[in-house]
Amino acid sequence: MSKIIIAIDGYSSTGKSTLAKQLAKKLHYIYVDTGAMYRAVTLYAMRKGYITDTYFEALDLISDLNNVKLHFVFNETKGFGEMYLNGINVEDEIRKLEVSQFVSQVSTISEVRKKLVEQQQEMGIEKGVVMDGRDIGTVVFPNAKVKLFMTASADKRAKRRYKELLDRGDEGVTYERVLKNVESRDYIDSTRLDSPLVKADDAIEIDNSDMGLEEQFGRIMSLISIRM
Ligand code: C5P
Repeated sequence: MSKIIIAIDGYSSTGKSTLAKQLAKKLHYIYVDTGAMYRAVTLYAMRKGYITDTYFEALDLISDLNNVKLHFVFNETKGFGEMYLNGINVEDEIRKLEVSQFVSQVSTISEVRKKLVEQQQEMGIEKGVVMDGRDIGTVVFPNAKVKLFMTASADKRAKRRYKELLDRGDEGVTYERVLKNVESRDYIDSTRLDSPLVKADDAIEIDNSDMGLEEQFGRIMSLISIRM
């Protein structure tokens, strides 16, 4: 069977990465979490002091972008590629709420997007890729064979994310903070000028507010088989 690109876009915490990992495992495809790349650039900006609660020196980050080297290293036990920033595993750190609070601002910068989109397109050259993000079906791979657009209610998403953060041991997290973050990221992501989060015309919309993981996976696998 010829290999294809599966593009999964959608709002924050809609279970894109869980679905993408399931699909990649089943199809023996590579999974690319593009959100991890934007998160790693954000972590870099935070460490360098370019972004804090009170200001964001976007120009400093832009002029330092060449020093940001990102790559994924496959973790056999976890079954997916972990994010490395300048040779160091940052997989746990980039998931923290602190990073989530700044990532959408960093993602509005065109220079950041250009750099990451180029790297993402290279990763898809051989096809056989499941990629999730916000602009995969619209900008990164507008010709992807399968495009999915995931939605769910903000409350359901915040509950899922809150539980995930508690399981990871992220301290000081409350449901209210997570909900606020989910809503503010949705707003910034869908209103930014460069590559806003929008459903591609040919994407299939999936609202999984009340859908179990198995049901969702089954439905999408049958849809993919038809497209393949
Ligand atoms: O997918 P995840 O929630 O980890 O993404 C974190 C943030 O990275 C998003 O809220 C968005 O601001 C940004 N992002 C993006 N384009 C992508 C993937 C993520 O702008 N393709």
